[in-house]
Amino acid sequence: MTMMKLSTLKVSTLFALAGFALAACSSSGSSGGSSGGGSPPTPPPPGGNFSFLPVGTLIAGSGTGYSDNTVYRNIRFPLLKVPAYANSQVYRPGGSQNATPGQCNSTNYAYPWQDNFCETRTSSTNIWCPSGKGHQGQDIRGESCKSSSALDAEGKVDANVVVAAESGTVIVVQPHYIKVQTDDETTFYNYLHMDQIQVGLGDYVAKGQRLGRVANIGPAGTPYTTRHLHFELKQVMNIGGSLREVHVNPYATLLDSYQRLLAGNP
Ligand SMILES: [Zn+2]
Repeated sequence: MTMMKLSTLKVSTLFALAGFALAACSSSGSSGGSSGGGSPPTPPPPGGNFSFLPVGTLIAGSGTGYSDNTVYRNIRFPLLKVPAYANSQVYRPGGSQNATPGQCNSTNYAYPWQDNFCETRTSSTNIWCPSGKGHQGQDIRGESCKSSSALDAEGKVDANVVVAAESGTVIVVQPHYIKVQTDDETTFYNYLHMDQIQVGLGDYVAKGQRLGRVANIGPAGTPYTTRHLHFELKQVMNIGGSLREVHVNPYATLLDSYQRLLAGNP
């Protein structure tokens, strides 16, 4: 840890120095004086103008959220590229609880991010939700609502790619789902609804390694949802005197990692 911090500091120092040198250079280069015309328009940042709603703020009528600002782990955001959109795949257009059809609706692929941990479910136990049941993770849409095969046909093989949030061992593989256990055995990551899964049971995956693609696949290996990554973070916790794997709210952890990715420091 100390080593990593020291090297990070060194790199930042180097960048700061390089930045200073470039600024000095550019300043002297332009001192000859250009006349009028104004500056070229500033291109938008690659992730757009990111914004997010506070943790625990669910879509009205979709249940009561759980406000937990804990950043549980220093993860790599689980999609390779920005932009990505954390929001509800059920209560947004095209979802099973929204009358407006069309999962590609532009509001699904726009900021702000919105928490959907504890969103109403009838059968998913969740100890943090007031009813004792609720959505156990966060839904995340990729940059595109298109299928993996359509993206491949366009040569966009790096779009909607799911990567490992942290290194670990693949302990479950199903047609739509993989589960990874961290080296310290305190944390588990569940990645659901993917296609093009390219890791196998028992594989060791490195943080940031490609796992599959954002898709709409269910347990039977067939379309089941709108196109999104359902991401779960589970922590081993002492509950009532016994150690249990517990779903925790991943929103703050995802937010932390996404802001680092936007800043080019995943
Ligand atoms: Zn979900």
